[in-house]
Amino acid sequence: MSSVIIGLALGGCAKPPTQHVLAYQPVVTTTNSILTGSQPITKQPLPERIFSASHLGGRTMAVSSTNEIALRPGEVILTFDDGPRPGKTNEILATLDDYGVKATFLMLGSAAQAHPNLAQQVATRGHSVGSHTFDHVDLTKLSRQEALDEIARGERAVSLALAGSGHAVAPFFRFPYLSQTSFLRTSVMQGNMVVLDVDIDSKDYYKDTADVVAKRTMDRLDTRGSGIILFHDIHQRTVDMLPAFLAELKARGYSVVRLVPKDNSVFGRDVITAEAPERSETL
Ligand SMILES: [Zn+2]
Repeated sequence: MSSVIIGLALGGCAKPPTQHVLAYQPVVTTTNSILTGSQPITKQPLPERIFSASHLGGRTMAVSSTNEIALRPGEVILTFDDGPRPGKTNEILATLDDYGVKATFLMLGSAAQAHPNLAQQVATRGHSVGSHTFDHVDLTKLSRQEALDEIARGERAVSLALAGSGHAVAPFFRFPYLSQTSFLRTSVMQGNMVVLDVDIDSKDYYKDTADVVAKRTMDRLDTRGSGIILFHDIHQRTVDMLPAFLAELKARGYSVVRLVPKDNSVFGRDVITAEAPERSETL
């Protein structure tokens, strides 16, 4: 929510400020960038590079609630939903490593259960792993109890998949289809989970080409100036667009914030479905 407030405060034109021009250093832009085609991305000049011209990886932000997620102009958080998916997630991990950035993966319980080694690899490589329900259902179509069960079942499955990796599931949660009710949102937050909203939807689930996805995402980011970006690590176009997109982020002086839990003790917080019936047979 706070990032929305920031967006409003910046009047919707939140390009990084330009006063620190001394920090500018020339950056070699790859000529084969999918973002440098015949159609210009924007008619405005590129934002000045105020953070770091040479490092895309930005600060680490430790949060224990949604409203603690406060990005500065020029900062983004990368999130990948619906995985892990063999052949896709590992490619995305390689690209993130290439650029030295950390992302947050909101995994489906069903996918993590099916591919625990891949889920563990994501965590082992320093990314935050949260959850996204078990089966990717629209929670507003379920009863309240069924919805809470589905959220908890997803988190448990991701937690079990990570067992043995030395990494716990982060209490980060994203609603499938971003579909929620005030009851569910409040319940999740009262369970000390951190709801991750979306500021910039790449819409990488549309059957567009990789360059269309990259341009759409960059346009939206340039307009907004910062934000949480939604991708999915299950699409080939997302795998394909990510290297050039990150190169362009770097060239424009953005930095990628690493989001981590402030206190990642799974056992230290209330379980939102404490009164839900046991569902262990499904795990
Ligand atoms: Zn999803």
